[in-house]
Amino acid sequence: MSVTTPAEIMDVLRKMQALDDEIRDIRVGRDALVGNMERLKKVLNHLDRELDDKRGKLAEAETWYRNKTNELEAEREKLNKGKSKLSGVTRSKEYIAVNKELDIARKNIAQKEEEVANLMKAIEEFREAIAKEEAKVGDLRAQAEHTERDNAERLAVMEARIAEVDVRRAKVTAPIDQAIVTRYARIAKAREGIAVVAVKDGGCSGCNMQLQPRFVENILRASSLSACPHCSRYLYPSTMVDADGGIVAL
Ligand SMILES: [Zn+2]
Repeated sequence: MSVTTPAEIMDVLRKMQALDDEIRDIRVGRDALVGNMERLKKVLNHLDRELDDKRGKLAEAETWYRNKTNELEAEREKLNKGKSKLSGVTRSKEYIAVNKELDIARKNIAQKEEEVANLMKAIEEFREAIAKEEAKVGDLRAQAEHTERDNAERLAVMEARIAEVDVRRAKVTAPIDQAIVTRYARIAKAREGIAVVAVKDGGCSGCNMQLQPRFVENILRASSLSACPHCSRYLYPSTMVDADGGIVAL
């Protein structure tokens, strides 16, 4: 059974448009889901990189701490050596000199002890901050994995719906001239997916250009399949001329 009258063909074209709108809506939802997941993954990657960076800095601080601890140990040894040297000193001049050395060593030790203590405190704070962030990133990753599993199900449902609408669409388009289906597809591709629009207030509701009154009248009478001369979209009337010649809203 083939469909040939302009009114019947227009009816098919409007059904095609409605089905394509449905598919587009599902795709918009699907793309939003995929987009959200991609954004979340980007955020996670960024946080991972930041954490790696902080771990690297922590390792540097720990090396620095070990060096400072070794320096402190060396100063303490120096002090002990000086002390034993002092016990063997008999001359007062030498005694004063060794004592001076000991004072310097004590000052160095006190200074280094403070440095080491401060460094340890900073390292501990840094470790805590990293641990907290690791926990936060871990939670976020678990959440992302959960969302991804959830999304996988929703995506499968969406894909199934798209496939189901495609089947309905194939049935709808089967009875009309396939050249019209091809033309429809070309317009849809060029016009954001909208290939069939209503005539409203004497103009095309797709591109909002005014149409010749005589042309509009033809569309209202559905005497031929009409397309907008400006945007090429198929035009259907939002009102009709009834058998008595009166205008009726559809
Ligand atoms: Zn138009």
